[in-house]
Amino acid sequence: MDLHDTLREYWGYDSFRPKQQEIVQSILDGHDVAVVMPTGGGKSLCYQLPAIVSGRLCVVISPLIALMQDQASQLAQLGVSAAVLNSSQDAEERKEVFRKIYRNELKLLYLSPERLAVPSTTEWLTQANPGFFAVDEAHCISEWGHEFRPEYRQLQLLRDHFPDAPIAAFTASATRKVRHDILTQLKLRQPRTFITSFARRNLRYYVRESAKKDKEKLLLRAIRHHKGESIIVYASTIKMVEETTAMLNDRGIPALCYHGKMDTDSRRTNQEQWMNGEADVMVGTLAFGLGINKPDVRCVIHLSLPKSPEQYYQEAGRAGRDSQPADCLLLWSRGDIGILVHFIDQMEDQNNKDAAWQRYHAVKNLVENETCRMRQICEYFGETPKAWDKCGDCDVCAGLPDWLQKDDSKPARSIIYKAELDDSKLGALKAWRRDMARRHRVAPYVILHDRTLAELLLRRPVTMEDLLLIPGIGPQKVRKYGEEILEALFTALES
Ligand code: ADP
Ligand code: ZN
Repeated sequence: MDLHDTLREYWGYDSFRPKQQEIVQSILDGHDVAVVMPTGGGKSLCYQLPAIVSGRLCVVISPLIALMQDQASQLAQLGVSAAVLNSSQDAEERKEVFRKIYRNELKLLYLSPERLAVPSTTEWLTQANPGFFAVDEAHCISEWGHEFRPEYRQLQLLRDHFPDAPIAAFTASATRKVRHDILTQLKLRQPRTFITSFARRNLRYYVRESAKKDKEKLLLRAIRHHKGESIIVYASTIKMVEETTAMLNDRGIPALCYHGKMDTDSRRTNQEQWMNGEADVMVGTLAFGLGINKPDVRCVIHLSLPKSPEQYYQEAGRAGRDSQPADCLLLWSRGDIGILVHFIDQMEDQNNKDAAWQRYHAVKNLVENETCRMRQICEYFGETPKAWDKCGDCDVCAGLPDWLQKDDSKPARSIIYKAELDDSKLGALKAWRRDMARRHRVAPYVILHDRTLAELLLRRPVTMEDLLLIPGIGPQKVRKYGEEILEALFTALES
C-alpha cells in the first residue's frame, strides 16, 4: 500500500498536510527527525502512519496519561492496534499489553517518560525491538521552554540503549534555544528538521483592551456567541478562576473550573465532563492545558495578559485543532501590566529577570502594535511569512466582530460551515454521537469530528460508497460504523 492509500484507508483523508508526507518518508527511511509544527497541524499522523506501514512497533513517549489514552482510543476507532502502559493499570491489564507486544500485534505503544526510566523497561523494550521512537511534546525536555518536565530528561537514555532505532521529536512550540536543546538532549543524529509555519490560518486573534468591569460583559458575550460550543477561559490566578466560574454559574452558564489547588479527583471529573461535552465552558489557570487535545474548541479567552507571546500562542492554540474557524480572544487591561512588572521586580536571579523583561516587552508589543497579530506571532518565532502580508481576520486586519464592539448592536452569528447548517439536525446528530461515545466509552470527537458531522448534513450520503467521500471517514470507519452513521443521518434529516 502506498502512503496515500494508507492515509485514505485509515483516516479517510485525501491529501497530506504540508510536510506530513516528507516527515513520514524520512522516518520510514530510518532518519532521525525533528518536527516543529503548530497545534492542529497534524503531528500525530506523522508517526502513526509510519507505524502502520512499517510493520514495526513504534514507541511513543508522551507527557500525560489522559493524552495517551485518548490517542490509543482514537487509533482503536481507526482500526489500528495501540496500547498504553501506565501505573493505573492492574497486573492483568499490563500482562495483556505485553502479550500483544510479544505476539507482534501492536503498532503503537504509548509510554510515560517515568516508565521509560524504570530499568526493567529497557530490558523488555530491547526484546520488543521497536522500529522507532516518537517523542511527543518534545519541548518539555528543555528548561528554556515554558513547560519543562524534569522527567523528560530521562529520554537522554533512548539513544544509548537503542542506538539503531530512529528518534522522531515533535513539538508545537519552540524558540531557537528550545529547538537546540531538543536536538542535543535527545542526541539526534543529523536529524531532518521540519519547521512548518506558525501561522494558524483558521484562528482569529482578537485583542481588546478593556477596563476590569467590562471584561465580564465581554466574556459573557463571547460565551453567548459560542453557545453550545467548547470554550476555554484562562484566568491568571486561582482566585480569579473561582470568581469567574461562580459568576458564570450565577448566570446559569454551567462552567467548570480547573486549577492546581483542587484535588486530583475533582480535577479529573471536571476535565472529563468538559472533554465529553457535558459542559461547554472550562475556566482554568495555566495548569489546564498541557495534553488537552480536544479538537473542537471554538474559542479560547484570556482574561489578562499572558507572560510571553509563546505562552499565549500555546494556550490560544488549543482552539481549532480540527482546522475549523475558531476565535482567540485576549481581554487585557492596563492593570495587568502592573502585575507583570511587580512579579518581574521580585525576581532575584538576574538572568531570569532579563529574560522575563524580554518576554514582557514582547507581549506588550503584541497587544499594542497595530500590526496583524498573526504576523507578529510568526515574526516572534523568527518566521517571515512570504506568501501573505496580513492574515485578514484578526482585529487589526478586519476590526473587531460585532459581538466584541462596545455597544451590543447586531445579534451574534454562530460559525458557518460553507453553507448554513440546520441547528436542530446538527443537534440530533450530536446527540447520537454522544450516545455512541458513551456506549464505546470514548470522547464524542473520537467517534466523528464536528466537521464530519457538518459534512454529513451538507452532502447527505445515502450509500456506504457515498460515505467514503466524506472527509474524516475512511473504509475502516465505514466498516465499523457505516450503517449506524447512515441510520443516524436519516433520522436527523427527518427530525
Ligand atoms: P497536532 O498533534 O499537531 O496538534 P493532531 O495530530 O491532533 O495535531 O491533528 C489535528 C487534526 O488534524 C486532527 O483532527 C487530525 O485528524 C487532522 N488531520 C491530520 N492530518 C490531516 C490530513 N492530512 N488531512 C485532514 N486532516 C488531517
Ligand atoms: Zn491579521
